[in-house]
Amino acid sequence: MHHETDVAILGAGPSGSLAAALLHKRGIKTAVFERETFPRFSIGESMLPQTMEILEEAGLLRPVVEAGFQYKNGAAFCRGNRSSVFDFREKSTPGWSTTYQVVRADFDKVLIDAVAARGVPVHYRHEVAQVEPEEKGVAIRGKSPEGDFTVQAKFALDATGFGRLLPRLLKLETPSQFPTRMALFTHIQDGIPAGGMDRQKILVSVHPTDKAIWYWLIPFSNGRCSIGVVAEPRLIEHVKAANPEGGETAWLKALVAETPSLAGMLGNAVWDTPARSLRGYAADVKALHGPSFALLGNAGEFLDPVFSSGVTIAMRSASLIAPLVQRHLAGGKVDWAKEYDQPLRRGVDAFRSFVDSWYRGGFQDVIFYENPQPQVKAMICSILAGYAWDLSNPYVADPKRLKVLEELCAE
Ligand SMILES: Cc1cc2nc3c(=O)[nH]c(=O)nc-3n(C[C@H](O)[C@H](O)[C@H](O)COP(=O)(O)OP(=O)(O)OC[C@H]3O[C@@H](n4cnc5c(N)ncnc54)[C@H](O)[C@@H]3O)c2cc1C
Repeated sequence: MHHETDVAILGAGPSGSLAAALLHKRGIKTAVFERETFPRFSIGESMLPQTMEILEEAGLLRPVVEAGFQYKNGAAFCRGNRSSVFDFREKSTPGWSTTYQVVRADFDKVLIDAVAARGVPVHYRHEVAQVEPEEKGVAIRGKSPEGDFTVQAKFALDATGFGRLLPRLLKLETPSQFPTRMALFTHIQDGIPAGGMDRQKILVSVHPTDKAIWYWLIPFSNGRCSIGVVAEPRLIEHVKAANPEGGETAWLKALVAETPSLAGMLGNAVWDTPARSLRGYAADVKALHGPSFALLGNAGEFLDPVFSSGVTIAMRSASLIAPLVQRHLAGGKVDWAKEYDQPLRRGVDAFRSFVDSWYRGGFQDVIFYENPQPQVKAMICSILAGYAWDLSNPYVADPKRLKVLEELCAE
């Protein structure tokens, strides 16, 4: 089968569906090619309020609001007997201060269904294998259940997430500066009694004896939640050694049992879904663009799950790229490095300095500091709410300022 389109979008996760909606809105002929059928499992369930602005821009807010996801207004942190709450409504940056915690299988389907309903062709079970960028377009090849397919497009957007198709094919990958970490995670019937936790916030808990191990608990609207742990593999070897045959679920449960506040909260949980693991997910590339193509979301760069920034960056990349692709197709000049890579990376770099500081322990001291200045807390809150591109925030404009704050709050 042969397809012709102006823009071929490879992958139908949040970056792909947002790009498709935004390009369609600009009157550009677009088609999406997705390896799986939807719904399909994906990790990354805690949204940040910044995404609401982009969903609104793409005209996708209404289907998300109507889907009944768990309302979210902040992030709670716990380490030993210390706790700290960031309410996004107290952030310094204007804009949305609430969002959702979503089962991604449902969320991603809501988005791409809304895109398809507008008339954008979405081809499921179409796995792209080859992309050849040419000066005036791209030639794409792949496999579908009906046989091989080809696509001729004027421009391609790689939204293949951890598939990282173009970085692999075109050797654009560069090592991430973060060490290899892994995550073990699952969905459970959480059994947390009413009042047992604030379900409108993600809970991030730090391991009692090792600050480099942390857990997420993301409640959904149906009495279930996502639970996961992140650490360098060497830090969780002991649970594997104690139960080599146990597998991911047993190891995750053993790690949860090491953190009394979390174990207590989940005392009545039903672990009804086998846990999964992901390892070495942090990734970077030399450039986010090339002749007739650009990389969106995780296909470009992925930092770390700790501040739930992945979907925000994915949507932001789609929002930045849409007007540039439109200008390019109309024959205008685009300085991709200056107009796409650099502005996108500015926010990514702000998140990066916070992630780096989290694992060094400095940002944990900031979070658990007992008497923070309200103004400073509001600026930190803005970044935790995803407003990492707000240059009026001193911690975005100059991420090195975080070091000074770390020193002030050091325990
Ligand atoms: C442990 C962990 C926890 C996380 N938690 C959060 C969180 O709480 N909040 C958050 O915002 N982010 C989180 N993230 C990050 C989040 O998962 C991603 O940033 C987000 O899904 C990126 O969206 P995307 O559209 O770029 O890619 P994806 O959502 O991965 O979508 C890519 C799509 O491309 C398709 N595809 C792949 N290869 C091909 C191919 N060859 N041809 C056609 N289609 C293809 C895939 O099937 C998939 O549907 C987490 C990540 C990890 C590893």
